[in-house]
Amino acid sequence: MYEKLYVVPLDESCRHYAEWLGQVLSKKMGFRLQTGIVSRLPDEAYNAASNQYYAVPILAKLELLKGSEEEIILAITDEDLYIPNQNFVFSQANSVGRTAIVSMFRLKPEFYGLPEDDELHKARLLGAALHELGHLLGLRNCSNECVMRSIGNVHELDRRAEGYCPSCLLNLTLPTKVKI
Ligand SMILES: [Zn+2]
Ligand SMILES: [Zn+2]
Repeated sequence: MYEKLYVVPLDESCRHYAEWLGQVLSKKMGFRLQTGIVSRLPDEAYNAASNQYYAVPILAKLELLKGSEEEIILAITDEDLYIPNQNFVFSQANSVGRTAIVSMFRLKPEFYGLPEDDELHKARLLGAALHELGHLLGLRNCSNECVMRSIGNVHELDRRAEGYCPSCLLNLTLPTKVKI
């Protein structure tokens, strides 16, 4: 894979994690890591009633920042995200627009009343990112022991495999995933 990847922090507090994640993902997946896209959470995506952000308009806004089809944008935020009919989402992807977002809000052990654990937080962040990037590269949710398995809570997230299963890996390595 030679896609250009931008890992974009949407809050200042995510900057360090975005840099870390960009390094890990480019090594692991062979992305060409790019810099230069700056964005923040759009006010119109904010839902004051639930104090959350609606993921869909955020992804739409990010798509406008892309220069070409081969570019992939993965955004990170500290804010809580939701989509219709789901109280929250850890992460969300738009595989047509090739943009994705991960929320760190519910990935931190502190959210569950547990002590800070940066290693665990980063492992969850990486897992969520690999899952959404898989969608951007054409994969669907998978029922194997696989990072593409769909999860509904943090326990399932922690139990999920860290990598792609052989079947997903085969699909990932097929060329011209970029073209629709
Ligand atoms: Zn999925
Ligand atoms: Zn799989």
